[in-house]
Order: sequence, then C-alpha cells, then structure tokens
Amino acid sequence: MQLSKEQRDIIEGAVRDIPDFPKPGIVFKDITTILNNPEAFKTLQDHLYERYRSYELDYVAGIDARGFIFGSALARDLGIGFVPIRKKGKLPYTTVSEKYVLEYGIDEVEIHIDAFTEKPNARVLLIDDLIATGGTATAASTLISKVGAECVEACFIMGLTFLEGIKKLEENTAVYSVIEVD
Ligand code: AMP
Repeated sequence: MQLSKEQRDIIEGAVRDIPDFPKPGIVFKDITTILNNPEAFKTLQDHLYERYRSYELDYVAGIDARGFIFGSALARDLGIGFVPIRKKGKLPYTTVSEKYVLEYGIDEVEIHIDAFTEKPNARVLLIDDLIATGGTATAASTLISKVGAECVEACFIMGLTFLEGIKKLEENTAVYSVIEVD
C-alpha cells in the first residue's frame, strides 16, 4: 500500500523539527504535533491499517514510549493484541532482555516472557516512531525471536536514511518507513 503524495505531505508537514534537542547537533523529530493534529494522525493510522490489514498479523509490538501510541492504535484497528517492549526495569512480570550499544554506554530493552504464548509462532509487527542507528529496533526484533515469535516487519513513522540503522535492521527483518528523512 503506497502513500499518496497528498497523504505524505499531510504527515510530513505535521512533524516538528527541534534543533539541538536533547543535545547540540541532534535535530529531534517531534511527533506530538502529529498526535494533536487529527487530520495527520488519522491519515497516518489509516495508511498503516491499509498497509497491514493483509499481513495476517497476530500482534503489534511497540517500542517504549512513542511506539506505544502508534502501535496500540494500529492493533486496535486491526483487531489484534498489542505488546509493549520497554526499557529495563519497567515490566512487572518475568522478562527476557536484550542489551544494545549506544553512542556512550549500553541500554537494555525487555519483553514479557509470555507475551505471545496465546498464538504459537505468532506473526508480529514491530513499530516505533523513528529509526536512527537501529540499535533499539534491532534489540527489539531479537527479543521477539527470543520469546518464540516471528518479527514479520519493522515499521517506523520516520527513517533516518543518512545513518546505517535501516541497513543493519534489514539483516534481521523487513523494514518499512512511512517517511524517509535524508
Ligand atoms: P536508534 O536506536 O539510534 O535507532 O534510536 C531510536 C530511538 O531513539 C527511537 O525510539 C526514537 O524515538 C529515538 N530517537 C533517536 N533519534 C531521534 C531523533 N532525531 N528524533 C526523535 N527521536 C529520536
């Protein structure tokens, strides 16, 4: 399902660039201005629904925290379950975790061990707002495999194509970015 130019302009036009946040040199892509723009939010979620309705998905898994917003709305539209992948220490039940390297230091994401047990070999769509270096999403897709499900595709509202993140993640799973930023 291709995004029309009109749809792309509506979504892209609703993203706000914040220079030098959270530190000098980073242009932060603020998606709160999609969320509080009903036309842009609906256009985006309708596009995601049209794209994924034929994928025969069992779950949508969203990455902490902005992936929860787009992912849970999509799961509800598709009539399937939503699974959160959270930063370390936030999930209350038994978890499986995966570490990944940041520019300075190491971070860790977790998933509940029984997140997909209702559906053997569950087909899962991973979703987040943005892929930059790909570290977070690669760790998240690894977690999905570790708990016995299949990451069918990873979807991002924005993909930063000037970084190697998308290429890196494509070694694990198919990748779709609604908007490519270069
Ligand atoms: P990465 O692991 O480098 O691909 O970073 C992806 C995560 O960091 C996502 O959860 C994004 O929400 C966030 N992120 C990284 N860079 C940006 C940016 N320029 N603007 C907004 N969010 C970002």
